[in-house]
Formats: sequence, C-alpha cells, structure tokens
Amino acid sequence: MSFKDLQLNKPILRAIAEAGYDNPTLIQQKAIPAILEGRDVIASAQTGTGKTAAFALPILQRLLHKQDAPKTGKKVKALIVSPTRELAQQIEQNFITYSTHTQLRTAAAVGGVAIEPQKEALKKGVDILVATPGRLLDLHKQEAVNLTAVEILVLDEADMMLDMGFLDDVQKIERLCPSDKQSLLFSATIPYKVEKFAQSILLQPERIAI
Ligand code: AMP
Repeated sequence: MSFKDLQLNKPILRAIAEAGYDNPTLIQQKAIPAILEGRDVIASAQTGTGKTAAFALPILQRLLHKQDAPKTGKKVKALIVSPTRELAQQIEQNFITYSTHTQLRTAAAVGGVAIEPQKEALKKGVDILVATPGRLLDLHKQEAVNLTAVEILVLDEADMMLDMGFLDDVQKIERLCPSDKQSLLFSATIPYKVEKFAQSILLQPERIAI
C-alpha cells in the first residue's frame, strides 16, 4: 500500500515524500482511512510505530477540506493533548513538517516555559494546538484559548496521561470542546481504566491494534 492509496491530497503527499517516507506503516494504513471517514478511534500503538503521522496526516487533510467552510476566526480546530512537554513538542514538530505546503498553523502550549509567547501565538490564530493538560487549562482560565470550535480532539499516550494523574484535567478539557467533535485516543496499552475512560468519551469507535 502507498500513501496515494490512502487518498491524501497533494500538499500532504509532497511533505511526506520530502520527509523520506516511502510507504505507510501498519498503524497508518489502519488509522488514516477511519479518521478520514470521521470515525472516533481507539488505537493501541507504541511510540516508534509511526502513530503521530497516523493521526496528523488525516487531521491535516480534514482541516484542508474545511478551509472553504465559514471562517471560525482564530479558534483552534484540532487539539492534541499529550502528557509531557517533550512529547507535545515532538508532535508539534511533526505537524509543522507535514503541513509545510499548507496554510495551516500549529503551536504548542506546554508547561515549564514562558506562557506569554503561547498567548501571542493563540491571539494571532492557531489551527492545530498541541498541549499538555495543565498549561492548556491555565491558558483557558486566562481566556487565552477558545476550544468552542474544536473539530478533532486527540488524546495521545492516554495510559501515561492517566498514570500521571491527569484524568480530571483531561475530562475537563474534553467537556470544553463541542460534543459533536471527532475524538481519537491513542495509548501504548489499553488497561481497564483507559478502556473505561474511552467508553465515556468515544462514540462507536473503530478499534485499532497493531
Ligand atoms: P512515532 O511512532 O510517531 O514516534 O514515529 C516514529 C518515527 O517514524 C518518526 O521519526 C517518524 O518521522 C517516522 N515515520 C513515521 N511514519 C513513517 C513512514 N511511513 N515511513 C518512514 N518513517 C516514518
């Protein structure tokens, strides 16, 4: 299977080729069609399997398709929640790489660094926001981020997020987003607590295991 078979559009295919990717990995082959269809997804996949591109590429494609739709101003359209600053920044870098031939704007909102530049970026307009839970809720409390136009929510490394005690924060974030959004949950493992949490937020999800 090639990336072309996954019906990704030209600016995305060009960026993938420039990144040196020849063929989609297994998780990409399974997740990309489901996400493009608008399905909720629960996927068990470890880091290193290509899981970031498995959600980033179809998210970019869906947002590109909607660029003709009525403008939602400067509101975030895709929100990726990640447990640590390092993981969030890696995801941000991936989105920047894959969106290089598009107008879509990505930013990170993570703790441990100054909040002002993040506020400035959000003020200018961010389409894709990659965030850690605490900093995201801080920014929301300060009315620096608006989540009312989020179309796609990704919870990455959900098992790690729950182990780190972020359940309440993530639930709060999920409720700040519209209820008709598409939700994607990625986790290295799916223990009972992740399954229970997934059932509380996902609607008839496609289950993907690799
Ligand atoms: P991840 O599992 O998202 O952390 O990705 C692991 C590594 O694989 C990253 O360095 C990606 O740039 C790379 N990668 C992702 N998809 C592909 C692909 N289809 N072909 C080659 N490398 C890839």
